[in-house]
Amino acid sequence: MTIVNVPSAEKLNDLALALYFDAWERLYRIHESFLNFYPGKASSWPNEWKKYTEASSRDFETIINLVAQSAEIAMKSKLCSVSPFLLLLGQGLSFKRVDGELDFSELRTIDSVDLPGVVNAFCPEKLTDSFIQDFNKVRRLRNKSVHLGEASESIDPRYVVDVLVNFFHHLWGEGNFFSEWVRISSRDPHFLFDDGSGGDSRSRVLDSLDIILEIITKSQFKKITGVSKSKRRYYCFRCTAKGKSDYKDYFFEDSCKTAYLLDGEDQIYCFMCKGRFDIIREKCDDCGCPGDVISSPHIKCDFHCHSCGRDRE
Ligand SMILES: [Zn+2]
Ligand SMILES: [Zn+2]
Repeated sequence: MTIVNVPSAEKLNDLALALYFDAWERLYRIHESFLNFYPGKASSWPNEWKKYTEASSRDFETIINLVAQSAEIAMKSKLCSVSPFLLLLGQGLSFKRVDGELDFSELRTIDSVDLPGVVNAFCPEKLTDSFIQDFNKVRRLRNKSVHLGEASESIDPRYVVDVLVNFFHHLWGEGNFFSEWVRISSRDPHFLFDDGSGGDSRSRVLDSLDIILEIITKSQFKKITGVSKSKRRYYCFRCTAKGKSDYKDYFFEDSCKTAYLLDGEDQIYCFMCKGRFDIIREKCDDCGCPGDVISSPHIKCDFHCHSCGRDRE
């Protein structure tokens, strides 16, 4: 007997991330629609925001369902990286003699409720108790939603952000959030038809940054980027140049600054592309710009000042 279609850890992981970032994009759209009518910050419109989020309960449920499914698949990917056959644990499989091929995808796999325990038994990186508690809560909400057609309890929008941030931190680690979002977004078939005038997948993430950075707290920002939210940020010329489209230039939006100075080094590091770029500390020659982080004359780059985005002369 040959077993075919044995799952791969890498493919399962990418599916988990695709569902995960789908959840973020839905969350982004909920906020964007509100801010189109009530500009500024949602917190400036407490009554309107409360009414709006209550009316959006089904959207928040969908986000929770996506996160639950994403976490489940991410844990399966972790098991699969040890051995795909761990996914069959506890299913009491009895194999008749089969000549020919047995399709793995037709076998019953481990129940989601058992996943955290099995991951902690077999995988080198352990899941924390707080993650397991959060996962069980999200799984319960998902089950209610699937069985009853609604979660039948209101879901606090701040809880949704908290779950999204904590799940990424536990499942994929610190500092990989934006680079993974760009990587997963680049597979959108939309880009097959794009002639490049609309920017690449970075533009999609850069477009979301103003709202995403507004809705996450300082500690959540640290968890997803690995850097303090209050640290001064600069333009990464690689991300702004690749994301730039015929319709949009990112040099006028502070939220699109994705790089920061590395302590004790003449380099900046970008949390979106994970690139390191040489800089020199010199005053920007644009009067009015207080910037003093300038791209090194030794690197090939059309831009000059990482604070205002001024071109090289
Ligand atoms: Zn970058
Ligand atoms: Zn400048």
